[in-house]
Amino acid sequence: MKLSDRIDEALSDIRAAGRYREVLALESPPGPRVRIGGRILVNLCGNDYLSLAVDPRVTAAAAKAAIDEGAGAGASRLVTGNPPGHAALEERLARFLGVEAALLFGSGWHANTGFIPALAGEGDLILSDELNHASLIDGCRLSRADKAVYRHADLDHLESLLKARRGGARVALVVTESVFSMDGDAPDLAGLAALCERHDAALAVDEAHALGVVGDGRGSLAATPGARADVIVGTFGKALGSFGAFVAGSARLRDLLINTARSAIFSTALPPAAVGATAAALSIVEREGSEMTEALRARVDRLAGCVEKATGVRPTCAGAVVPYVIGSEADALASAKRFFDAGVLARAIRPPTVPAGTCRLRLTACRGHDGADLDAVDAAFRAAQG
Ligand SMILES: *Cc1c(COP(=O)(O)O)cnc(C)c1O
Repeated sequence: MKLSDRIDEALSDIRAAGRYREVLALESPPGPRVRIGGRILVNLCGNDYLSLAVDPRVTAAAAKAAIDEGAGAGASRLVTGNPPGHAALEERLARFLGVEAALLFGSGWHANTGFIPALAGEGDLILSDELNHASLIDGCRLSRADKAVYRHADLDHLESLLKARRGGARVALVVTESVFSMDGDAPDLAGLAALCERHDAALAVDEAHALGVVGDGRGSLAATPGARADVIVGTFGKALGSFGAFVAGSARLRDLLINTARSAIFSTALPPAAVGATAAALSIVEREGSEMTEALRARVDRLAGCVEKATGVRPTCAGAVVPYVIGSEADALASAKRFFDAGVLARAIRPPTVPAGTCRLRLTACRGHDGADLDAVDAAFRAAQG
């Protein structure tokens, strides 16, 4: 078969399934409102929950770091050495989270595909929530460990899998998100920690959608009594408004990752601008985190109320993700179109991102949405129903 035929065939299958995706052309920064095709739309799609990507304190820090330290890091840190900003940010993150150490990665994707194979190999067992993010799934796939998928946030099912594990010295690693990226809900983190302790398993928690959003901004683990984890993952690309990620935990964890996590070793270090922006965003969250998450929560409640009015069911929102589950690809696309026409950007999320039959508008609140924006969302919901 010719490669061009293979490509055409794959694309036509995707189209026939209603799963063809297109990248919108933005004409503005990805703030609370965006410009597309000359129109201003309320942005309900972003992960910049605290609106820090467009905060002048953060953008100025990014520009300054680029001017002072260069546009790029030049190579992997193991090759050229450790830029001072990188080490300082790692130490600050460790203090912020109350752990011994943190290691920066190029992105959340790098972090998850790096730490999982570094920690679990042949003969080990990884237990993964069925709704975990694609990067966690790929991290599991890259590992030579045995894998078991437990029902979403179902501690009884997880316990039965832990009980069934063969004896011996092998490591069991439980992997979960603290706020699920497409469903917006949360697992029982304290229950997970206790369960892992009882069964001598390690716990890794991806705080991508909780960092900067839950509690005082330090995320779900810090905000949940009795919760703790051996491995904490966070990204800078969401509430911190920049780019990059980290894995945090013990000093020995960091040491092992530097030596074995392939996505850290064989990839260029974060550019100074991303590190500078993240450091500035972290300072803001340290100072104003509680007020910011409170302001965000009020906007999440408004959105959740809209979804409740439309569906009769109030979604559980542990963070700023508000799922509006619709069903089929065609219905979700039609709904997204009606929102667009009413001045609201809300894109249809379809398989493989979510299970078939649960296509949805994944709505997100951000701190920068004002009263007029939320009134426009109310009106869009009414228009989409009508
Ligand atoms: C977005 C996301 C990632 C990937 O992070 P990036 O920094 O965007 O690569 C990882 N885990 C979860 C749960 C996410 O939602």
